[in-house]
Amino acid sequence: MSRRVTDNAVGNRPTRHAKTIIIGSGFAGLGLAIRLSQQGRTDYLVLERGSDVGGTWRDNTYPGAACDVPSQLYSYSFALNPNWSRSFSKQGEIQSYIQGVAKRHRVLDKHIFDCDVTAARWNAEAAVWEIESTKGDFTADTVVSAVGALCEPMLPDIKGINGFEGEIFHSARWNHDAELTGKRVAVIGTGASAIQIVPSIAPQVAHLDVYQRTAPWLLPRTDRPYLLPERLAFRYLPGVQRLSRAAIYAARETQVVGLAKFPPLMRAFEAIAKAKLRAEIRDPELRAKVTPDFRIGCKRMLISNNYYPALSRPNVDVVTDGIREVRANSIVTADGTEREIDALIVATGFHVTDSPTYNTITGADGRTLAEVFDEIGQQGYKGSAINNFPNMFFLLGPNVGLGHTSMVYMIESQINYIADALDTVDRMGLRTVEVRREVQDAYNRGLQAKMAPSVWMTGGCSSWYLDKHGNNTTLWPDFTFEFRRLTKKFDVAAYRTTTRGASRSELKVVG
Ligand code: NAP
Repeated sequence: MSRRVTDNAVGNRPTRHAKTIIIGSGFAGLGLAIRLSQQGRTDYLVLERGSDVGGTWRDNTYPGAACDVPSQLYSYSFALNPNWSRSFSKQGEIQSYIQGVAKRHRVLDKHIFDCDVTAARWNAEAAVWEIESTKGDFTADTVVSAVGALCEPMLPDIKGINGFEGEIFHSARWNHDAELTGKRVAVIGTGASAIQIVPSIAPQVAHLDVYQRTAPWLLPRTDRPYLLPERLAFRYLPGVQRLSRAAIYAARETQVVGLAKFPPLMRAFEAIAKAKLRAEIRDPELRAKVTPDFRIGCKRMLISNNYYPALSRPNVDVVTDGIREVRANSIVTADGTEREIDALIVATGFHVTDSPTYNTITGADGRTLAEVFDEIGQQGYKGSAINNFPNMFFLLGPNVGLGHTSMVYMIESQINYIADALDTVDRMGLRTVEVRREVQDAYNRGLQAKMAPSVWMTGGCSSWYLDKHGNNTTLWPDFTFEFRRLTKKFDVAAYRTTTRGASRSELKVVG
């Protein structure tokens, strides 16, 4: 059980100690919490800044929000859901699924909600992490950061935007009280979020301006409701759902060959996307505007059947001139045109390689994660550990992202690894574990070498996959089963370790 201590290095305020603290309860943090419970561990806490589990699926409630990965694959392997209503789930259904899993696995009493972690500092003397939060102070022997990459909305730095007087909100912070019906609305961005928002609101607004900086590639969305016989089969015929899941996994994994290893193969996808563009946009001027100029896959491939038809509506304009400034009730583009609007929806993505949360974590040498990343880029080891941050693990850390298949697969690989790390620490009586810098460096050299031929590096686009050093520190550049293999066992030899002793003088470096 977590216990209360009354005096420690955080100060003299009451501080709660837990052996393991998980920060964040999206798919990743929740999945680890369930695994720890399954292992019989009780001395852990999950600190979650929101008031519910679900992470990105709790936060992204914009109209049309749905997953681009088929339902059968986009779920925990230990909690298959025979009740998915369609082949690609909508946000509400995924959020209900996550809530149901949390409840069924009885981990909610380990959660502290509305608990925003404002600082986490490594105390080398005591070998604990000291955590400050909006719900008080904590210490932990081990911290697992499970905050995810798509959690900190990025607001565009556009002149005058703060002076906009109408409704303005980010796609991930949708204001459901804002009335858009009959209004003049602008959407900035044409990424995965925007292409779902635009068709959802276009029929209700008076006019919609879509501000496009880069035209995305679109593929068909093979979404459909499941028929009753299919749902009955998923529920009652053993193996059918696992088979369907395996088939989807295998089909998606074939994309890795083109994306990561031999990008010319992506031409096949480009041909499908071009045919779709020709079929769905008749106006040659509009078609030219939304035709991408980079190799498909370089940015995330989007899937939609209603985005192009929405752009073709008479009340929708695609604006490709850069935004010069936002005024109280309008947007002015580089060519001097001023377009009046009542509401502005900012669908400009997230702080991925420069998350503000990196400023709140301070490692062994007193530098924050932000400072370390500033120097070496967003580098880690197997996406799960970072040198200078002992006794800290990461779910969805550097280079575990994907565009082509389910992130839940990567998360479960990392859960295996981190759960095994915690077992290893206990079994070997370790006080600290910190990935060796030379191991991390070698790992990243290998990773970037694999990345070099990928479409993300050679496809002729700029994307949030790349950090400010020009490295792709976001994506996993290989088959996902290869990542599963690498994370099967905790490789303690890659870590510098110390063992437990009664006092610091007895501290023994064992590795
Ligand atoms: P995003 O992919 O980063 O797209 C942001 C969009 O805003 C891009 O079109 C970008 O243009 C534009 N933009 C950014 N700053 C701008 C500026 N200052 N001026 C003008 N335009 C600007 O963000 P997102 O659409 O929220 O998606 C983020 C990720 O979330 C996705 O890649 C995906 O991983 C996930 N997601 C998944 C789903 C799904 O499964 N269906 C749905 C939503 C999100 P540039 O392209 O020129 O940078």
